[in-house]
Amino acid sequence: MAAAWDFVRAGHTPTIYESTNFVGGLASGFKAPHWDWSVEKFYHHWFQSDAHMLGLINELGLNEKVLFPRPYTVLNHNGKWYPFDSILNALRYPGLGWGLNKLRFGLVGLYLRTTNNWRALEQHTVETWMRKWAGDRVYEQMWQPLLIGKFGPFYKDVNMAWMWARLKARTTRLGTYQGGFQQFSDDFAEKLRGMGVTFALETPISKIHPDPAGGVTIHPTNQAPVTFDQVLVTTSPGQLAQLAPALPPTYLAGLQALKHMGAVVLVLSLKHQLSEQGYYWFNIPKNLGYPFLAVVEHTNFVSPAHFGGEHILYCGDYLPIDHPYFSLSKEELLAQFLPGKKAAGSAVFALVAALGLWLVAKRHLFLVDIFWIGLLSIGVAFAVAYLLGSDDTEAAWLLEELDITGESV
Ligand SMILES: Cc1cc2nc3c(=O)[nH]c(=O)nc-3n(C[C@H](O)[C@H](O)[C@H](O)COP(=O)(O)OP(=O)(O)OC[C@H]3O[C@@H](n4cnc5c(N)ncnc54)[C@H](O)[C@@H]3O)c2cc1C
Repeated sequence: MAAAWDFVRAGHTPTIYESTNFVGGLASGFKAPHWDWSVEKFYHHWFQSDAHMLGLINELGLNEKVLFPRPYTVLNHNGKWYPFDSILNALRYPGLGWGLNKLRFGLVGLYLRTTNNWRALEQHTVETWMRKWAGDRVYEQMWQPLLIGKFGPFYKDVNMAWMWARLKARTTRLGTYQGGFQQFSDDFAEKLRGMGVTFALETPISKIHPDPAGGVTIHPTNQAPVTFDQVLVTTSPGQLAQLAPALPPTYLAGLQALKHMGAVVLVLSLKHQLSEQGYYWFNIPKNLGYPFLAVVEHTNFVSPAHFGGEHILYCGDYLPIDHPYFSLSKEELLAQFLPGKKAAGSAVFALVAALGLWLVAKRHLFLVDIFWIGLLSIGVAFAVAYLLGSDDTEAAWLLEELDITGESV
């Protein structure tokens, strides 16, 4: 849509083909009927330094709808959570002691925040650069766990320019849009339509090739092929390689050689606030043994009032694309993320209760058919167990398991 905005202002008449029936792509959202705002399918925010994005929003005249709350990102050390989203907070973090390592961490952080010489950094991986300048202890304690979490087996290949860009861009205030990111995409699409851009939703493209008579032909799966002067593809590089096999072989090989990770994110709606300290983003290094890498309490960023008082929580992880999580249903993923503690507890409770009820019935109500009393007891016990197990237990489990209610600073 950003490209269409530039094209239309340069005098072209673009058409956007989109396979789904909504705009927004990875940044799209969904809405329960009783919510005023949508929730992003994957957690999303802007930094105050996202000059291009904020510039575009400004050009669209939508900047009044951008909000910049100040949520907290925290990191764990010895069972406590510490804010870790500004140089000052990072310096206060006790994970590095208070000696030379803290000093090296601070100086390296300061250098990366102030330098613009990313070309020099691009010659190194994070691993080699950080080990050299920040030291082994700082690297292994602070940066390596985050890299492993985000890039899995590829973590040693991550380029230092990527790390520089992450640290440089980070601001303590994070941006969102009134109504959610889906609202932004919808408002953006509306502006584009008003300027003559055509949207062909629910129109997947299956093939793209140059037309012998000039131009480029695209093949929508549900319409006749259409030829345009130019085509810009904004799918993933792998999808582009499949769609356009006629691309020059070296370019095609480059697209196919790119490695990538996938993101799996489970969105939960809870009755309780998880972090009463108001923490938004919990970084959870893989070595702590949680079944996910990040817990993000969206409603510690935007008010739960927009979601009928519900508390929205993301549990996310970055994984190799062949990881079994990607083929699980949401129920199966929930079972992985919230291990069967509740179910097991409910079942044991139900069986013990059934046995107790049956014994009482056998002793005191011997005139009535003992088989039916037994059956009734089991039914009542399961109903009670279900009610006890279903209400707020998932929030209680998370509170307990994540130790987020525990001492924190
Ligand atoms: C977990 C996660 C968190 C993120 N958090 C942030 C964040 O906080 N801030 C931020 O700025 N960015 C974030 N991003 C990145 C951001 O979502 C992407 O950079 C952005 O969505 C890319 O937009 P795009 O239009 O280039 O691609 P996409 O969003 O991937 O859109 C591609 C579109 O192409 C459509 N399509 C695919 N194949 C076809 C086909 N054959 N025919 C027709 N249409 C097709 C898809 O349906 C989709 O709508 C995050 C991404 C993830 C996964």
